[in-house]
Amino acid sequence: MPGSVAKRRLFSPSTLRDALKMLDGEDRLTPMAGCTDLYVALNFGTLTETYFLNLWDLDDLRRIAMRGTVLSIGALCTYTQIIDSRIVRSRLPMLVAAAGEIGGPQIQNRGTIGGNIANASPAGDTLPIFAAGDATLLLKSVEGERRVPFNEFYTGYRRTVLSKNELIVAVEVPAITGRQWFRKVGTRAAQAISKVVMAGIDPGRGHAPRIAVGSVAPTVVRLPSTEAALASGTSLADAQQILLDEISPVDDVRSSAEYRRRVAANLLADFWRKRARR
Ligand SMILES: Cc1cc2nc3c(=O)[nH]c(=O)nc-3n(C[C@H](O)[C@H](O)[C@H](O)COP(=O)(O)OP(=O)(O)OC[C@H]3O[C@@H](n4cnc5c(N)ncnc54)[C@H](O)[C@@H]3O)c2cc1C
Repeated sequence: MPGSVAKRRLFSPSTLRDALKMLDGEDRLTPMAGCTDLYVALNFGTLTETYFLNLWDLDDLRRIAMRGTVLSIGALCTYTQIIDSRIVRSRLPMLVAAAGEIGGPQIQNRGTIGGNIANASPAGDTLPIFAAGDATLLLKSVEGERRVPFNEFYTGYRRTVLSKNELIVAVEVPAITGRQWFRKVGTRAAQAISKVVMAGIDPGRGHAPRIAVGSVAPTVVRLPSTEAALASGTSLADAQQILLDEISPVDDVRSSAEYRRRVAANLLADFWRKRARR
């Protein structure tokens, strides 16, 4: 049965400083950005939280900028902002490709990068991009800030190292050399959660590719053994076998484990064959 907003309270700070103070003083507060994930839980009647911290007015978290060679994307950036950003289009085209396939225009206008990361679903479409891109998350609390490598952020299924009094402020992506590639396989082209989602970076001959995949394990995963195998000249067929040892998909409402295994292997082939054609 759908939940009700009647007995829920919303706190709306106008600065990041105030937001962090509120979060520190009230354990029950749950951050709320575009609300596209939280609303699904409300609609399903599974949203147990009652106190919400509305981040929507914190424009400081909407910046996209270069800090030296590092691309910094504010946590509140929406997918539409990503699609429209010239900097992101030139530095991180695979994120623009993913943003264009997330939900539909309504979700792209409202859903945020920070929400996708914090929601910690292994099916989140931006996660393989940040994992392959060796991104870093900038987290803030009243105590100060810290940077956490994206590949150390998730500790298990829907679990992260984020403390109750911290917010994700930005995701920072170092300069990427080489071809970027993104593929999502869902039930249809729009409004579909991924059955398998993969991102790859191919820096070119002599360098190992960087590959990450979502929806095939409790968290998004990098594929270090597959990457090393491809770099050492192992055949694609053998690399696909290695990939299958690195993932642990399950049967669920969206797909079967076997389908996910086959699709993951096919996606690896697509990524690698396109390299051969260059
Ligand atoms: C119809 C529909 C289609 C969708 N399609 C896709 C899809 O194709 N691909 C996909 O990956 N996702 C999809 N989603 C899921 C969702 O839209 C995305 O995960 C979106 O990025 C969530 O962002 P949000 O700002 O709406 O998060 P919210 O719902 O506001 O928050 C989600 C979680 O993140 C936390 N949070 C948010 N911001 C922060 C922050 N800055 N710091 C700390 N915690 C924070 C919240 O407390 C909450 O736990 C879809 C959802 C719907 C309803």
